[in-house]
Amino acid sequence: MTHFESSNGDRFAEFVLPDGCVLCGGEVTVRASHAGAHSYCPQCHWLSKPQMRVRDNGVELSFATTVLA
Ligand SMILES: [Zn+2]
Repeated sequence: MTHFESSNGDRFAEFVLPDGCVLCGGEVTVRASHAGAHSYCPQCHWLSKPQMRVRDNGVELSFATTVLA
């Protein structure tokens, strides 16, 4: 599991994580909503649904690289 943090303040509906892709190390676009977060890498087309936690200093995303059914 890999952790990323973003400190975009109170607006975090959509943001970009530089080097956020765990596959190619590229830029990952993250869209967050009340239902959860989706991330997408335009370079390798990696889609993920990271766990999102809102903290005082920003948003913490947890990408699970292995899926446990
Ligand atoms: Zn990628």
